[in-house]
Amino acid sequence: MTDSVNYAGWTRSRMRMVHVTLIFATLLFVCLPAAAQKKKSTTKAKPAPAKPVDELTRLRNEFIKATNDYKASLEKLLASYEKNVAKAETRLNQSRELFAQGLISKNDVAAGERALAESNDKVTETKLRMNSADAQIADTLVEAEAEKSLAKSKPMAKGSLLKTAAYIRYNGGASWALSDAWKVQRFFLDTFKKPLPIAVFGQGSIHDRWRLDHHNAMDVSLHPDGAEGQALLNFLRSNGIPFLAFRAAIPGTATGPHIHVGRPSHRY
Ligand SMILES: [Zn+2]
Repeated sequence: MTDSVNYAGWTRSRMRMVHVTLIFATLLFVCLPAAAQKKKSTTKAKPAPAKPVDELTRLRNEFIKATNDYKASLEKLLASYEKNVAKAETRLNQSRELFAQGLISKNDVAAGERALAESNDKVTETKLRMNSADAQIADTLVEAEAEKSLAKSKPMAKGSLLKTAAYIRYNGGASWALSDAWKVQRFFLDTFKKPLPIAVFGQGSIHDRWRLDHHNAMDVSLHPDGAEGQALLNFLRSNGIPFLAFRAAIPGTATGPHIHVGRPSHRY
């Protein structure tokens, strides 16, 4: 009897266990495929968001390579300009001696002085370009990337404004020329008591390389969402001056966001 009770007891508890196991099994059976499916759908959906990361990595690598190439080419240019300075100095000293001996005119000496000043200017300019090489490359790269989508976008009405996550575009109606840049510079100087931070003025060798037309534009190193950037955008809009303000940055670099004053660059 006790055996049967035990047996029955065992069976009852065993049955309870079977029940619980069955419930678990059912739950597992129902939930697992759903979970697996969910996992599957997230892993399946992943390649899409992963694409921009690859795109950004590619952009960053291109940035680093372009910056290094550009800096190397500027270093070569600087070396040749410095040689020119040395030559101009030697020539000027010679002409000063010849002038002292009454062999050449004062005009000849003045010509030598001008040649030396021009050579020195080229050295200074190249050094400035080397200092802002990172900003120039980043701005140009951001614009080259934007140009792809701008080329596909619909033409904008004069005076209209377009805002996307990456940029703000204003199609100003005023006839803008780079020779008007002083107006923008003066506004900024008067307002903020410091010069407009221009990273790129007109066409540079980096634009030539990427076949971007930047002849009639300048890039200002200001974030469009900052106080100074906002003030500049308001000034440009109230004067009908077209601009493209970029929020995008290149990952792994401190550069990228800037304000392009002028019509968008196009590939030629
Ligand atoms: Zn630009």
